[in-house]
Amino acid sequence: MKKIIFILLILSQIYPYPLYSQSTPEQKLITVSKKKETVEKLLQWNADVLMERKGKIYILARPKDLNKLQSNHIPYTMEKLPSSTPLGSMSSQNGINGAYHSYSELERDLLTLEEKHPQTVKVFNIGDTLEKRNIYALKISDHVQMDEQEAEVIFLGCHHAREWISVEVPLLLGKHLAENYSTDPQIQEIVNQSEIWIVPLVNPDGLHYSIYFYRYWRKNRRNNEDGTYGVDLNRNYDYKWGFDNKGSSPQSSSNVYRGNSPFSEPETQSIRDLFSIKNFQALISYHSYSQIILYPWGYTTQPSPKDEMMENMAAQMSALMKPVSGRVYRYGQAGASLYLTNGDTTDWALGDHNIPSFTIELPPVDILHGGFFNSEEDIHHIFRENLPAALYLIRWAIQEYSPSSLPPEPSSRNSPLRKERK
Ligand SMILES: [Zn+2]
Repeated sequence: MKKIIFILLILSQIYPYPLYSQSTPEQKLITVSKKKETVEKLLQWNADVLMERKGKIYILARPKDLNKLQSNHIPYTMEKLPSSTPLGSMSSQNGINGAYHSYSELERDLLTLEEKHPQTVKVFNIGDTLEKRNIYALKISDHVQMDEQEAEVIFLGCHHAREWISVEVPLLLGKHLAENYSTDPQIQEIVNQSEIWIVPLVNPDGLHYSIYFYRYWRKNRRNNEDGTYGVDLNRNYDYKWGFDNKGSSPQSSSNVYRGNSPFSEPETQSIRDLFSIKNFQALISYHSYSQIILYPWGYTTQPSPKDEMMENMAAQMSALMKPVSGRVYRYGQAGASLYLTNGDTTDWALGDHNIPSFTIELPPVDILHGGFFNSEEDIHHIFRENLPAALYLIRWAIQEYSPSSLPPEPSSRNSPLRKERK
């Protein structure tokens, strides 16, 4: 295995385009026409269904999927991504993942940020992954070393390995707050009144695999001990976990495999444990792609008790984002917008912690506009348009905050937050 990694690394230095930036040779992008029986079959086979558009279903098909389609006489079309898609356009000077952060690049940047801004930035290790990487959380606040009675908001990135842009947006949010604290009175005002927590990379093992081995990897790297790997971390939270087999899968080979039990994975356990010692009031979890703001419930099409409030908040965030670069983020209830999901972060944050929580699916709108591949030049634009929505959520929490309305914060003496690093 080491030899293969070495060869890949060598090739990546020579080759003008990263070898892994497209699907592996065995995987093809295909479409089939949307029919109920076909959809049911695809779900049974655990096909990697990417999206539905204009009556066509886009699938990243493995050879066995193609065989099954053929033996079931289901016609399919090979699709080519449009040439404007930034596939393979990654610059090589920043390493094989271009301007995107790998685990170690992220670690370096977080520690540098803490070093430069010790009054406002603190880095925590909130848990270890199966492959022994740290799950990092960035705390930003005035008197950052202290646990003050202030509004608390959390931003999460990269539950899904292939959604690289979802690391960059929360990381840039952290940098923006820290670097502008001393010069921007508006930033100073919100940082002084809140504790902002950012976990930019919930799934470090998966991201590593996506960078070095298979660009389309989505899950973590759990060895399921049946020849398959990975649990979908965004189906592993305990609220309505495994509610049905549409919103998640009991089959380990599925891309939406929910795991053996709720919170079976160290990554989701870390988020759960952080919530157990904080009083977060609101959450955003970044994903890609679709350019849409989603709120619970995801497990059902029925509205949640906070439906009206979250719809209103999503509408305000979308309205604040549009003027930045003109991109429109649609919004709606998750279960009614895309497809059902159970055991996801936002249903859990609302269901178990009763806080408004949002999934922001970052651009582009669909796979024909690049899917999981955002050009390096677009990283900053996507962050800039997401910034007002993030600031809105922090301000909202500050306004709502009243220490008496919250349960007392658990003692931090038994805090699972660890500072040691490997
Ligand atoms: Zn995702």
